[in-house]
Amino acid sequence: MAEIKGVSGDSHFIDFIEEMKAANLFYKEDLASAEIDETLLAVIPETLAVRYHILPVSRADERLVLVTDTHQTYKDRAEVEKELGETIKLILTTEENLRAGLLRFYQIKSFKQLSGPGRSFVDTADSPLRSSIVSMLQSAARGGASDIHLLPYSGGIYVRFRIHGHLYDVTDAYNFPATAASNIISLIKQFDDSGNMDQTRTNMPNEGSFSIPLGTDEIFVRMETVPINGGTDNMEEVALRLLPQSSAKSGARLTLENIGYTEEDLRHIKRMLYKSATGLFINSGPTGAGKTSSLYAQINHLLEAFREPMHVVTIDDPIEIREERFTQVQVRIVEDNEKASLTADKILVSALRLDPDIILYNEIRNATDARAALRASTTGHRVFSTVHAADCIATISRLLDLDIPRTMLLSELRMIISQRLVARLCPYCSKPHQLTEEERIVFTGEELERLEQGIASGEYRLLERGSIEDVAKCEHCNHSGYKGRFAIAEFLEFNMDIRDALLRPPKFSEIQELLQRHGFRTIWQKGMDIVVRGEIELWELIRVLGKE
Ligand SMILES: [Zn+2]
Repeated sequence: MAEIKGVSGDSHFIDFIEEMKAANLFYKEDLASAEIDETLLAVIPETLAVRYHILPVSRADERLVLVTDTHQTYKDRAEVEKELGETIKLILTTEENLRAGLLRFYQIKSFKQLSGPGRSFVDTADSPLRSSIVSMLQSAARGGASDIHLLPYSGGIYVRFRIHGHLYDVTDAYNFPATAASNIISLIKQFDDSGNMDQTRTNMPNEGSFSIPLGTDEIFVRMETVPINGGTDNMEEVALRLLPQSSAKSGARLTLENIGYTEEDLRHIKRMLYKSATGLFINSGPTGAGKTSSLYAQINHLLEAFREPMHVVTIDDPIEIREERFTQVQVRIVEDNEKASLTADKILVSALRLDPDIILYNEIRNATDARAALRASTTGHRVFSTVHAADCIATISRLLDLDIPRTMLLSELRMIISQRLVARLCPYCSKPHQLTEEERIVFTGEELERLEQGIASGEYRLLERGSIEDVAKCEHCNHSGYKGRFAIAEFLEFNMDIRDALLRPPKFSEIQELLQRHGFRTIWQKGMDIVVRGEIELWELIRVLGKE
């Protein structure tokens, strides 16, 4: 474990401080309270901060200004510049001040990690391999990745990041050698602090979770391992899902604004949330459509809107987003032992005795779940839940098919939101798009005619990801061609007419007609609005959503 070298006491160092003070190169501001731009912190991964005793504070004359507490860093300047790929300016500060800064911005204390309540961060400083894994996780998180895939092969490990739904191969950036592959996989498995990961078992799927610090926040990582190559040579593929956490320390929370809804949808969602004091709010969509993040953002919005404390109880399996203000209860199933199992509906019965205002019941999988959620809703609570279904019509059909009283279900349902996440084109490097044959066949003749007319008249503008050269040059999107994302959502808001019509089992087409009468617009229709404004690729919409 690296330790701070106590150079600050020697006389040579005191001379050095005097020199720096005289040259106006001494940092006097208190790092325990100084404001440092998040983008600057992103430049220095924690491992480098630890290794070189440095903290970025500003940029001046196109140089990165770093404070340090040791003259060793001045000697290592060339090395630091090489690591960072940019020129730096060093400013000296006291050991005490740097420690305060590292503690605040990187949670580094004496170069050992601080522990959060009930769990510990992954220790980064004890081996180069470990620290390169952590810096990989941190740079993935900073780049907005939702998943990391590590796939061992004969030449090393393929490393892929999923960012806004697209997979990027970053194998070359890490260059993990084949000889270290099984070592790396087992190191990552050791990060587990859930206790679920069986370290010794490499021939069966395994799951676990851990947290890593990121600036003032933390990233919660869920990990799945699967044996590959027939499971004979102890190789496993690792999939890591990065889940942003809300933090009381930094005040970072999931908000509706950062989910990616359009302005109009945002207003609609807020209005629907605000006006119902009780009832069932359902979010649906396939895996990776941001259902859970949206649920948390909706609840956070309500808390903001009402400006008063509310008791929120969440029942999750697993808990994906940690929110310190909520009472979060994790479902625990013991195989073949119902008595010892803490099922979601059992938790809900006790949760109702905790006097909650809002209940998050994640997710409705069967009639038992639906009955539990309805019980909470009919006793005067706002209940948020998810259903795994493609769209609003599929969601309502799934719920109506469950063995639960239909009148009760319909009277409690307030809204269903169904959504998909799609990557937003970078406006700086995208280029005009010509409709392809594959795209044409997706549309009906009528739709295609309308689309082509719109393009011809200049009313519509189709764009696509820029050329490889343009994307490589573009700083705005970090050379990815995409910048941020959209959450394309369709809503079903319940009213008397809709409830009446659904009382008797309707046909799909009848539901569709009914909804159209009420101005319902599908994800596809709303996605096309964004496509013809040139903000997402047509192919992206087809790939993510498909079209019936
Ligand atoms: Zn760009």
